[in-house]
Order: sequence, then C-alpha cells, then structure tokens
Amino acid sequence: MIRPTKPSAIQPVEPALDIELISLFPEMFDSFLRTSLVGKAIENRIVRVACTNPRDFAPGRHRQVDDSPYGGGPGMILRPGPVADAIEAAEKERGRAHRVLLSPAGRLFDQALAKELVGRKRLMLICGRYEGIDERIAELFADDVLSIGDYVLAGGEVAATVIVEAVARLIPGVLGCAESTEDESFTAGRLEYPQWTRPPVFRERSVPEVLLSGNHAQVAVWRRLESLRRTQARRPDLLVRHPPSEDEQALLSGTSRKRRKKSLPQT
Ligand code: SAM
Repeated sequence: MIRPTKPSAIQPVEPALDIELISLFPEMFDSFLRTSLVGKAIENRIVRVACTNPRDFAPGRHRQVDDSPYGGGPGMILRPGPVADAIEAAEKERGRAHRVLLSPAGRLFDQALAKELVGRKRLMLICGRYEGIDERIAELFADDVLSIGDYVLAGGEVAATVIVEAVARLIPGVLGCAESTEDESFTAGRLEYPQWTRPPVFRERSVPEVLLSGNHAQVAVWRRLESLRRTQARRPDLLVRHPPSEDEQALLSGTSRKRRKKSLPQT
C-alpha cells in the first residue's frame, strides 16, 4: 500500500515530477505504480508518487468521511474536513503542489493539458468518491478541475492513473525513444497514421506496399495522408479545431482522385 514518503529519507535525487495523490483507496494505485512505464519512471527516480488518505484525518472511531447532501438527494458527499486536512498534511510534508480536482464536471483533459502539466514540478490529484466532494474543496483548494471524459466513474482513482500515465510519458527520459511522442495522435491536432509490423502478410491481409518500398519520402507523404484521412473519418472535430493547411488540403483532394483510380486501402 502506498504511504506518504519522506523524500529526503528515501529518494535523494530530485524527481522531474512529484505526484501527490489524495485518495480514499490508495491500494488502487499499487500495481499501476509498480508496472511498465510509470513503474520504471518511479524506479529510476524520474517520477515520485506519494498518497495521502483523507480517512486518516476523519474524526471518530468509524472515521466517517461522508455525509448526506444538504438539500436532499441520493448518495453521500465527501466531507470537506478530512479532504482539506489530507491536502494540507501532504503539502506540509512535501510542499505546495498544483492542485487538480478530478470531476466529471471539470474541463476536459487532453494531450495539450498533459503537456502543460508536465511542466509542473509538483502535481496533486484529488480523487472524489460517492456523489462527489463538498464544493468548498473546489472553492478553497483547486487550482484546476479536470474530467477525463464525458462519462461518470465511481471515483477519481482511475482518472488519476490516466493523467499520471499521460503526463509521465512526456517527461524526457521516460520513453525509450525521444521522438516517440512527436508523431503521435493529437500532437499536431491529427490522429496518428496506422502502423504495421511483421509478418508482411497476416490472414491474407498485406502490409501496404509503400511501407515495404524503402522510399522514406514516399512513406512520409503516405503517412501524412493516412493520418489526415483517419482524422477526417473518425474525429472530424479535430479538423474543425485545427483546419487543414493548404498543403494538407492539396494532399487530401489529390488522394480522392487517386483513390478512385487505384482504390488505395482504407484505414
Ligand atoms: N455526482 C457527480 C456528478 O454527477 O458530476 C459524480 C460523482 S462520481 C460518481 C465520484 C467521483 O469520481 C468524482 O468526485 C470524481 O472525483 C470521479 N470521477 C467520476 N467521473 C470522472 C471523470 N469523467 N473524470 C474525472 N473524475 C471523475
């Protein structure tokens, strides 16, 4: 189970990103923080994560953290006291963080925001549960309120793992290859082109010939086009927000003609 760590005692090297989780269910992060990319980043001391549980600050024998909503209605609301105390205790120990409250009613988290957050030295993710957290936590503590999508989760923990992974992989040195985030989906307001690997034929489906040609210039143009086509088909909203350049428009209209003639593979 994750426990607040004393940085000076355990990790002498300053991490590139210090993440502070405020959660009633720290055990939900255990395998996530030990596995794959994020696990490695923590092992290599590029990222440091500590978790503080509001329940540890709840009064009484039962350490009750929730209560019924004023004005009536279903479900229970996280009381502000234990959450505020958890935030303050974590910051007293490790310093002020950029505090992000997780809520479906927040602004939408995306790749641009991930890039913005990677610039923060300390990032706090405050996870709600039940019907949410007393609004005074947002008013008094939150620097930002973020949602990971237009759906409702049972708690903020899964949303926090999404943000931690999206942000951590942008820290230099976390991904093996420095360029691997450059061509990716959303980086330039486009979805990434489709990718293939060996074998060249799988269940009678072949890898597009151009990718086997060894002609890097042709491959680059083909990928750009596929990226545009895929964005147009699956995420036209991205093209509205990031309209195609003249170059891209030419590429797209050129293709539609070629496509009719040669019937290029669909993505
Ligand atoms: N009653 C709230 C509403 O309708 O907006 C939903 C509360 S939800 C069941 C409990 C907690 O899960 C929230 O306080 C928040 O921390 C987290 N959560 C749920 N969906 C989320 C989302 N899409 N993005 C970020 N956090 C989310």
